[in-house]
Amino acid sequence: MSDALQKLTRNVLGAAAALTLSATPALAQGLVRDTEIEMVMREYTDPLLEAAELEPTAVDLYLVGDMSFNAFVTQGQNIFLHTGLIIRAENPGEIKGVIAHEVGHIELAHLARLQDASRGGMATMMATMGIGLIAALAGAADAGAAIMASAGQFAALDMAQYTRGQEASADQAAIRLLTATGQSGEGLVSTFERLAYQERLSQARRWEYFRSHPLSADRVSALRRNVDASPYRDIPDTPEEIAMLERIQAKIIGFMVPPSQTLSRYPLSDTSIPARYARSVAYFKDGLIDEAEAEIAHLLEAEPENPFFHELLAQVRFESGLIAESIEPSERAVELMPDAPLLQIYLARSLIAEGGEDNLNAAVLHLNRALIFERENSFGWFQKSLAHQALGQNAMAELATAERFYSIGDERQAHLFARRAHDELERGTEAWIRSAEILAVTQPTNREMREWNRVERERRPNFMTQG
Ligand SMILES: [Zn+2]
Repeated sequence: MSDALQKLTRNVLGAAAALTLSATPALAQGLVRDTEIEMVMREYTDPLLEAAELEPTAVDLYLVGDMSFNAFVTQGQNIFLHTGLIIRAENPGEIKGVIAHEVGHIELAHLARLQDASRGGMATMMATMGIGLIAALAGAADAGAAIMASAGQFAALDMAQYTRGQEASADQAAIRLLTATGQSGEGLVSTFERLAYQERLSQARRWEYFRSHPLSADRVSALRRNVDASPYRDIPDTPEEIAMLERIQAKIIGFMVPPSQTLSRYPLSDTSIPARYARSVAYFKDGLIDEAEAEIAHLLEAEPENPFFHELLAQVRFESGLIAESIEPSERAVELMPDAPLLQIYLARSLIAEGGEDNLNAAVLHLNRALIFERENSFGWFQKSLAHQALGQNAMAELATAERFYSIGDERQAHLFARRAHDELERGTEAWIRSAEILAVTQPTNREMREWNRVERERRPNFMTQG
């Protein structure tokens, strides 16, 4: 592959980050997606990245649907947060502290050094594991889910094993970043103190996190000293931040623990927003749709403009077969939060399932917008292929299928479908060019490489000289 083409591949398709491969399964669960939770985690993370002089848009944030306490970073500036970290936190400061520590590892390039030490084990993981491909918290139980279920590949991800020296310097960086953003490091040290205590109490509770981030008494006491020295030590989380965390904790619990446990943790006597939120999800999971709708009605009464309450209502209806009734709340969610691609993808799903030319065309428009930001969302590509197919636009459906396979790293299938699309699409159109791009980056034949160069020369006369 020429340098110019390699560069283009990176630009067009997103950097395929190199991650350390290992035979040790570090994770069994997949990624989960949720606009609300991602938004809150972004609010915690972005100021810390800026303080570390890292570009927030260059750092991807992923939620791992796993109830154990863990957070880690990988090559290519990816931060992974377990849902278990979020639900175990007693306040936002604890999560921010852990994130600050992980940002510290990125800032100090600890992974780059690890990479040099074990070059033999490197592989371009992103392409093969199709990160970001797992369905939403309450998974999509349709044909799209099958292809998204290659989450097993995620298990091949190995976390870095940091040295004690690296841990100490990441702790120091964390305190520095928290201080630079006017925040307390109390959460970081209190998390470690609490978890270290739990670890000592029970041998069974070996947190994955402390296998990669070795915790010692010295480390905790050094951290405690640093935190106490910060002028912001006693700055508390704002009431808004605390309320928001309680909400997303309730949502995670609702989706990820058995309904009976959710209902005992949030008894009917509790009429707070988090309790109603958790219960509505628990009822939904139990198939008690009327009860779920009743709780959501209370939520919407309290906050009629909350896009996530509308989103949940749409999900409850859609997944209980009330397709037509799911469209209105889904549209409302998109209206209230037009920049959230996942909300658009869910609306498209409802519109496609309902069918009819107007709905299908509207779905394609939503997907086109959403997939600009969600290129790795195989579920979105799957929906787009369904919409085009239903509209009788076969070549476009094939191109969307090529994108779907590409997004999960199945280059062979991506190539196959891109080939079909390319042969059928109208020459020179954007879709035709895109099909050529996929052909060129997925094990192209010599003939396809010549074709690709021709396409690029037509499009950009100095393509091959842009070095
Ligand atoms: Zn660490």
